[in-house]
Amino acid sequence: MSAHRASSIVASVDFDADGIQRGHLRLPFSRNESAWGNLMIPIAVIGNGRGPTALLTGGSHGDEYEGPIALAELARKLSPDEVSGRVVILPFMNYPAFRAGTRLSPIDGGNLNRLFPGRPDGAITEKIADYVERVLLPMADIVLDFHSGGRTLDFLPFAACHVLDDKEHEARCREARDAFSAPYSMTMLEIDAAGMLDSSAEALGKVFVTTELGGGGTASARTVKIAKRGARNVMKHAGILCGEIERGPSVLLDMPGPECFSFGDSEGFVEPAVDLGARVKKGDLLLCVHPHGHLGERPREYRAGLSGILAARHFPGLTAPGDCLAVVAVPQEGG
Ligand SMILES: [Zn+2]
Repeated sequence: MSAHRASSIVASVDFDADGIQRGHLRLPFSRNESAWGNLMIPIAVIGNGRGPTALLTGGSHGDEYEGPIALAELARKLSPDEVSGRVVILPFMNYPAFRAGTRLSPIDGGNLNRLFPGRPDGAITEKIADYVERVLLPMADIVLDFHSGGRTLDFLPFAACHVLDDKEHEARCREARDAFSAPYSMTMLEIDAAGMLDSSAEALGKVFVTTELGGGGTASARTVKIAKRGARNVMKHAGILCGEIERGPSVLLDMPGPECFSFGDSEGFVEPAVDLGARVKKGDLLLCVHPHGHLGERPREYRAGLSGILAARHFPGLTAPGDCLAVVAVPQEGG
């Protein structure tokens, strides 16, 4: 069985050593340009004595930047003196995708966040997933995986947790999400949870927090600041860093069901009717998609399936059938 085969990835860092180490996960990748070559995925480990372990990951999708920016800075600046326990930092988890600036790996087309638990004898992206699943996740007490919208989506900046069967586990994840202190705190409904790092971390009983912090294939000063503060806040919450959690106002949001999502069924160009953060009532117009073949054709209207606020939107000006066009989430009043 592939699950018992050793990973071909070799770490140049010693996960059990104290101090700071910046090295690589070396993944053999034989190709035309480099016969016995490797993929060198940057990793940092900062250890200081006994204590919990945080696994901080970004770049699962290669066109999302807040996580990589915040985590690369932590890997440069975080000092072992500040840490009780251990921090493992993997800012560009799907490194080939990150280097290409694309959501998926240019090597095998792999979507890292749909390929967990991975395979040690699979394609490159499956090998990365397998190493994270079997080597890095078991080390961790708390896992923070940064995402943003990438080139094709834009989100309100939120930290998120999921509804879990084990309510005590769910509460621990929610507390960590709230400690992140993003402007919005989401209880997230996944369209397709199979193969996600989220599901793997949760199945192992880990405290798991994810984010969506903007998008459009870039970052903003505001969302970068949220990411940097959130990473430190989560480590403070875990007892790895000392100091007060820097809290700010955060709107609690819920995604109660599939009516949150508007998926397109037409081709054309998008006219937004409301912007991110706008309050909408069920039936309100969210956007129109205009056909461009003939000026006599009417636009297709997309309306809110429930009352709430616009939490995500399709980012590019052009759309095709099947695109996720909008997500409406429901503020939890009093939160
Ligand atoms: Zn992502």
